[in-house]
Amino acid sequence: YPPIVELATAKVTGMEALVRWEHPTKGLLSPVDFIPLAEETGLILHIGRWVLHEACRQAVEWSDAHPNRVPLTMSVNLSARQLHLNTVIDDVAAALDDTGLAPERLTLELTETVLMQDTGEVVPRLNRLKELGVHLAIDDFGTGYSSLSYLNRLPIQKLKIDQSFVRDITVDPNDAAIVVAIINMAKSLDLDTIAEGVESAGQVALLRSKGCRVGQGYHFSPALDARKLYPLLRQKAIANP
Ligand code: C2E
Ligand code: MG
Ligand code: MG
Repeated sequence: YPPIVELATAKVTGMEALVRWEHPTKGLLSPVDFIPLAEETGLILHIGRWVLHEACRQAVEWSDAHPNRVPLTMSVNLSARQLHLNTVIDDVAAALDDTGLAPERLTLELTETVLMQDTGEVVPRLNRLKELGVHLAIDDFGTGYSSLSYLNRLPIQKLKIDQSFVRDITVDPNDAAIVVAIINMAKSLDLDTIAEGVESAGQVALLRSKGCRVGQGYHFSPALDARKLYPLLRQKAIANP
């Protein structure tokens, strides 16, 4: 889980669930090394259901341990296969029901590629997910087949600015211009923006000054095991990020 942090205050507002596979001989595997295969074989449906349930459960466990803290949000990545079956609605409803997580604390992240494979059923399905009360975000925004028309058609609340744009914002005026354009467009569409891959204080300052509210990245913390996040949750803000 990498923390998602409010740029102005360095307060942790939520977490994203990033799955890992503890392989018996190969060690800890990154999702990029097994999600594509899991997609191909259909195993992603089982993995996705498990991640959803476990992430919701963990969010509730953190809140129970820190009852005085503002409840953390939890973001979960959904793959194309999951979104192309109606069972995703039951899976999300069951995860919320079983764990007791309030729906508004769960954000589902979708990539543009997933949305471009729309067969006409994805939009109604996303509307039903929104009716459950969960939030929807577009992940890696700007890297896929970005179609501005879907920003109107889809019931989304958040755009995650891809790390490839964030990386050079302090040195490359073109990247900075793209990021500013995304932030301003999001603002006028009443969408929240999350910067991905924030690695330096300079990036934080620039993103803040342009109106980006939250971010995540190695500047704040890499993805950590749930257990290792407890000390960080006890702090009011990330110290000297
Ligand atoms: P993503 O959702 O865009 O996640 C961000 C990726 O960027 C993560 O890699 C994260 O470790 C990495 N990252 C975060 N901060 C920084 C930074 O400051 N600098 C750099 N260079 N990288 C940073 P990870 O964990 O390898 O995940 C890769 C992708 O795998 C994710 O991209 C997501 O699309 C997918 N994924 C992860 N977990 C799941 C899952 O449970 N289900 C599905 N369907 N996909 C998942
Ligand atoms: Mg993501
Ligand atoms: Mg991303």
